[in-house]
Amino acid sequence: MYVDSHCHLSFPELSANLADIRAAMARAQVDRALCICTRLEEFDQVHALALRYDNFWCSAGVHPDSEGVREPSVADLLDLAAKPRVVAIGETGLDYYRLNGRTLAEMEWQRERFRVHIRAARAGSLPLVVHTRSASDDTVAILREEGAQAAGGVFHCFTETEAVARAALDLGLCISFSGILTFKTAQALRDIARFVPLDRCLIETDSPYLAPVPFRGKINSPAYVPFVAQQIAALKGLPVEQIASATSANFERLFKLPAAHFQGSEYV
Ligand SMILES: [Zn+2]
Ligand SMILES: [Zn+2]
Repeated sequence: MYVDSHCHLSFPELSANLADIRAAMARAQVDRALCICTRLEEFDQVHALALRYDNFWCSAGVHPDSEGVREPSVADLLDLAAKPRVVAIGETGLDYYRLNGRTLAEMEWQRERFRVHIRAARAGSLPLVVHTRSASDDTVAILREEGAQAAGGVFHCFTETEAVARAALDLGLCISFSGILTFKTAQALRDIARFVPLDRCLIETDSPYLAPVPFRGKINSPAYVPFVAQQIAALKGLPVEQIASATSANFERLFKLPAAHFQGSEYV
């Protein structure tokens, strides 16, 4: 059984086909998924998925790329985090990829938003789902300054350097690999996946984006997360079943969930 630790099932590409996706998940032995929140305005929709289905959970947070949205306070995030089946704060972090002509100094709002999420995660004892793109130095520095180690968390959809991977591991965080690991151009990332200890690895799709090979360019879904596990298995020279069970156990430990005791097919 596989777990997709990061997907966006509330996005229209996926929410319109949820019954088909859940059937495909069952066929692919993907028995659980974490539905990620990117705006406060989206929370109710993400939360409804986690309330409706026993094998979905959700997060509460505002993505660094979300602009023109309600800005969360620590209290806002803690309110949402106290609701049933909310198991993480995020996704949060820094993204300097689309500056749109702004200087880094002008991105202070993103750094402040990230700090608010870390403070909420610490206060609520919930792990962080961290997004970082073109901003790894500031991301690691702020995680350190705000004591994110106390909350724990995961660097999701990891695409950074080995040095950043080591910094994340030093902070006690997990590292989650997506379908990018299967892309022909991602050799440097495969080298990193080889050395990250298996007990700190998660797998994810980040669907509807980033479909793994052989589905690259198509709409991604949690049903494709086994392709990520297969790539890690090949890199580490281990059976894919071992990658599936280790990443599932890591998911349960990080998000403080009960161990799986059911068959995925019961939840279709
Ligand atoms: Zn992200
Ligand atoms: Zn995401």
